[in-house]
Amino acid sequence: MIIAVDGPTASGKGTIAKALAAHFGLPHLDTGLLYRAVGRQVALTNGDPDVAADAIAACAFDEALLDDPELRSEASGGFASRVSVHPAVRAALFARQRAFANQPGGAVLDGRDIGTVIAPDAAVKLFVVASVSARAERRFAEMQAAGRSVALADIAADLEARDARDRTRAQAPLVAAADAVLLDTSDLPRDAAISAAIAIAESRR
Ligand code: C5P
Repeated sequence: MIIAVDGPTASGKGTIAKALAAHFGLPHLDTGLLYRAVGRQVALTNGDPDVAADAIAACAFDEALLDDPELRSEASGGFASRVSVHPAVRAALFARQRAFANQPGGAVLDGRDIGTVIAPDAAVKLFVVASVSARAERRFAEMQAAGRSVALADIAADLEARDARDRTRAQAPLVAAADAVLLDTSDLPRDAAISAAIAIAESRR
């Protein structure tokens, strides 16, 4: 069974995807991490994420980069969003994601285009959303826990800029698949959001 979990940044999709993977005993891929690694590689090589050639060259990142804690920073998220606009970058990461989705037994993948592009035949598709203020507060708490000092207003502005870029890009924009179930986590505590996602997945598989 393939479970696709899509949604904007800090909507709770990563937490939900991990919980679904544990519940169903499936492997999980956070596809945003791949784009973050490309963005980080561009930064490490002093490239420009808006220049296609620089972003494409960065797709050959070393696998060890996926363990770099810096990938979780807001800066890496911004770079990821910028490199992900280039169709050649998306193409370079496509086969890896498709192969993960199609492994025997199935998988859970979270990202922006899993239900629409990577695994359009997924048995379960969730589109996880939350208000900007709820998402900014979550991200703020995460950053504080990680010892990173960032202003709440800056996080909200960054989220909105990233959402706008992800929603309006020409290829594989952030959009719910026609057959996705919408899950709004704005007012749901973590456990309630997870229970709701499991109930949806159980009913759809
Ligand atoms: O999910 P996360 O915030 O880690 O993703 C970082 C960025 O990577 C997103 O803002 C988006 O631009 C890009 N991304 C994407 N397609 C995916 C996953 C992430 O374009 N499947």
